[in-house]
Order: sequence, then C-alpha cells, then structure tokens
Amino acid sequence: MSSSISITSIAIVGGGSAGWMTAATLSKVLDLTKYRVTLIESDNIKGVSVGEATIPQITLFNRILGIDEGDFIRATKATYKLGIEFKDWKQRGHAYFHPFGTFGINMDALPFHHFWLKRFNEGAGGDLSTFSIEAVAAKQCRFGRVNAQNNSPLANMSYAYHFDSTLYAGFLRDYATSRGVTRINGKVETVSKHPNGHIKSLTLQDGQSISAEFYIDCSGFRSLLLEREMGATFNDWSDVLPCDSAIAIPCTSADPAIKPYTQSTAKVAGWTWRIPLQHRIGNGYVYSSQFSNRDAALNELVTQLEGKPLAEPNFLAWKTGMRPQSWIKNCVGIGLSAGFIEPLESTGLHLIQSAIARLMTLFPSRRFCQSDIDMYNRQTVKEFEQIRDFILLHYVLTERDDSEFWRYCRSVTLTGSLQEKIQLYKDSGRVFRVDNELFNETSWLAVMHGQGLKSEGYHPLVERMPTALIDERLEHIASVIAKSASLLPAHGDFISQVCSSEGSAAT
Ligand SMILES: Cc1cc2nc3c(=O)[nH]c(=O)nc-3n(C[C@H](O)[C@H](O)[C@H](O)COP(=O)(O)OP(=O)(O)OC[C@H]3O[C@@H](n4cnc5c(N)ncnc54)[C@H](O)[C@@H]3O)c2cc1C
Repeated sequence: MSSSISITSIAIVGGGSAGWMTAATLSKVLDLTKYRVTLIESDNIKGVSVGEATIPQITLFNRILGIDEGDFIRATKATYKLGIEFKDWKQRGHAYFHPFGTFGINMDALPFHHFWLKRFNEGAGGDLSTFSIEAVAAKQCRFGRVNAQNNSPLANMSYAYHFDSTLYAGFLRDYATSRGVTRINGKVETVSKHPNGHIKSLTLQDGQSISAEFYIDCSGFRSLLLEREMGATFNDWSDVLPCDSAIAIPCTSADPAIKPYTQSTAKVAGWTWRIPLQHRIGNGYVYSSQFSNRDAALNELVTQLEGKPLAEPNFLAWKTGMRPQSWIKNCVGIGLSAGFIEPLESTGLHLIQSAIARLMTLFPSRRFCQSDIDMYNRQTVKEFEQIRDFILLHYVLTERDDSEFWRYCRSVTLTGSLQEKIQLYKDSGRVFRVDNELFNETSWLAVMHGQGLKSEGYHPLVERMPTALIDERLEHIASVIAKSASLLPAHGDFISQVCSSEGSAAT
C-alpha cells in the first residue's frame, strides 16, 4: 500500500474560463503521468460566455503557463488594454480614466501624488492623467512594446487584454488536453458521498461514473457541488451593490481606431461596457432589476450600439456576493460557483487566477487539513471584500441624482474599511494599499479623484520642496510621458504586426 500523502486524482466540473484556467494550470504544475486530471463539461449547458476584459495580472498567468503572447493574441482575437474610461459616472458629461501602472514617480521618498495634490489644491498641477503613460497612450489609441531604457516610462508600461472569452476557454482547453488533461463531454447529474461527507463520485447523464480524491467546482452560477452538495452558504451583498442583471450584445465597430481601453458609461439603472476586440465590439448593460427591467434595459443598450448587432442578446442574472466557505472537505469552488462581484473593474477572471494560485499554495494532501482549508477560505473572503469595497467606491461617490438608482447608490451605508479609506484621503490625501489588496494606490487615487472626492490636505513634508521646483518636476514628468507616448505605434497597427508575425509578439 502506498504511504504517500499526495492525492493523485482531481475532477473539475465545468468548462468555462474557470474550469479551463484551472485545468491548464494543473497540467503545467503537476506531472500528469502521476496525477489524473479530468474535466467534465456539458455542451448542452451554456456557460456565461462573457468576461472579456482583464487586468494586468493575466499577463503573469499566461507567462506562468509559458503561453506565447503572439499565439494568444491571434487565437483569442485579443486587443491590449491600458485601463478603463468612466463616462458619466460623476455627473453626466464628465469622464475620467483609471489607468494601469502608476502616476508619476516618487520624489524625495514621498509618493508623487502628494506633490501634484498640493499644486492641484492651489489651482495648478495639471490633469492627473497626464502623469500616467498608460492614460496618455490610451487617449491617443497607441500601444506597443518597444525596447526602452529602464528609466523610460515605456519600460514599465502596464497592460492587460480584451479577448473573446469563448476563444480563450478553447485556447486553454487545447493547452490542457494536449498536456494530458482528460475532457469528458457530459452532464453531471448525481453525486455520491463517503460517510465523512467527502464527495466520492459523480454520475453523468449517460450513466458514466467519475471518481476522484479532490473535486473542483467550476460549474458557474449553478454551484453544483459547492452549494448544492456541500451546502455552502452565501454572503449576499446586493444591498450595497444592487446591480444583478446584464444584457450582452456584440456588434460591428464603427471606430477606425481600436481603443486600447474599456469604456464604462453610467446609465439610468447601472452602466454599459464597450470592449473592443479585433473582430467586434463587446457591449453590455449591467443594471439593477430593482430599478429597471429587461425591456427598458435592452432598449437603452440597443439604442447606443455603434454598429450592426452580431448576435442575439445574452441575458444574465446573478446574486452579488460570495460563499465564505468556498472550500469544504474535498471540494473547492473556483469562478462563479464561489461568488461574483459585478464586472465594473474586470475582476472575474482575476479572482479565478488568484483562487488557483491560493489553491496551489495550499494544495491538499490526502488528509485535507482543516487548517489549510480555513486559511484558503479566510484569504478568499478578504480578497472578495477588498474588491467589493473598491467597486462600491465608484457608486457611493457619484454626484448623480437623476434616477432612483443613483439616489439609492448615494445612500448606501459604507463598510468600515471603505469609510476609513475615504476619510484618510479627504483629510490628508493619503492612499494606502492594505494587506496586499488587489487594487493599488494608483487605482484608489484614480477613482477617488476621478469621482470628484476632494482632499483637504497633502503630505506636509512636500513643503520642503520649493513650489517652483515642484512645478518644474511636474512639467518635466508630463513632457517625458507625452514624448514617450508619441513614440508608440497606433494600437491597431501593433496588433496587425503581432497577428502577422508567427511565433511571438512583436517587441
Ligand atoms: C455580465 C458579466 C460580465 C462579465 N465580464 C467580465 C469581464 O469583463 N472580465 C472578467 O474578468 N470577468 C467578467 N465576468 C466574469 C466571468 O465571466 C467569469 O468569471 C468567468 O466566465 C468564469 O465563469 P465560470 O467558468 O465560473 O462559469 P461559466 O462560464 O458559466 O461555466 C460553467 C461551466 O459549467 C458547466 N456545467 C454547469 N453545470 C454542469 C453540469 N451539470 N454538468 C457538466 N457541466 C456543467 C457548463 O457547461 C460550463 O462549461 C463577467 C460576468 C458576467 C456575468
């Protein structure tokens, strides 16, 4: 009898992004001559088939898998993303940009934004986005990866992708199956358990039985194993984030340039997204069913489409929140089965990626130690809560009062941690990234300032620098960024170059 503590068989239920991202990682990390990884998906059960905008961490995910960027861009019809433009969020007619990367550079060991804030409060300082290479390049529809010196803003440009989520799942499926993951097309119907409550096996509609030592539930909103079989409870956050529905419709593009950024436009009862891909524009309206209905929302979305619709509307509904125990016994839920926060900051795929990373760190032995499981669940809750707070920030700072929805958003009671962050910025302009949270100081600053939150102070040590010198440095930084951005190719040209070159992305 083997004395090994290692589990050797894993079954994944669901073949959306969560299932295939998990399977691809396992196929890379585990030696599949020793481990059996099986993914069961049903061609007859539709996944959400959305999830097209990402954040920069996805580039790390692809790098860990050893995916060639050029292959990836071609296969998923991807474009590059430098941030998100928020239109009509503060007030109608107002726009701001949330870029990836950082604003300016630290000076005299103090965060850059305190120098800018001092001058901004004095009526100078310029537009915050002119200190971000990502924001400046985005506005000019430029993107490229040039060989730049380390001190050039171009050297550290931060970017993510927009891509076709169905093609992405297919791309990862080919990756994982070619490395030894077994794919079964079938519908999981019943689940049997061991006396200790662990899952023993799954029975498919065709009678096939699949057994494994560890089960990963990637069945989407159905949460087939985690909720239905293991009884996971749900923390419902719909009182603070009332959007619970979406309609997605792709259309042809009317824009000769490909924008390297997502656009989010506030509407009557939520917001719409515009995501440019190589071959189409992804559009969607995320709204609250408390404040609108299907017909009104569809009408609002359809009237703003810039081109010919390319598919029937895809209607989606969810409950915002998460399962505080997303790992129970020998079953962990990854992806929508574990929880969902509306896609305002494109965090869905990232939550999958970080759940996979956490699972790898706390990879179970046959003992399924409860302390490992507790740590996994605690970290998952923390991450969801931090993202919830950041999303909430966009809503609670709005100045809009032109619909019931926006009036409701303004009245929402803030969580303690968010209240603290807002107060800190208002009092002294300080912004902190707490406990290694996903969104960094740039993100918090971009949204707080963008939504119109005013800071009454700034770091007092900024006053050590004479005002004329601060201005000189601000001007210098903005001009280096502007010059650097002008060296980049048009985003569309760069994509054509990547797509025409086999083997790797152009550098
Ligand atoms: C409106 C909307 C917009 C979004 N936009 C973004 C975005 O821009 N960026 C981002 O990062 N994320 C976004 N997301 C989140 C993202 O779509 C999801 O995180 C991602 O698609 C993962 O989904 P999933 O794999 O968990 O579930 P799904 O894609 O729903 O997949 C579920 C799978 O389970 C299978 N299945 C279900 N039941 C059974 C069964 N009984 N037997 C066998 N198989 C079964 C299905 O066939 C399917 O393959 C968005 C989500 C929504 C709702």
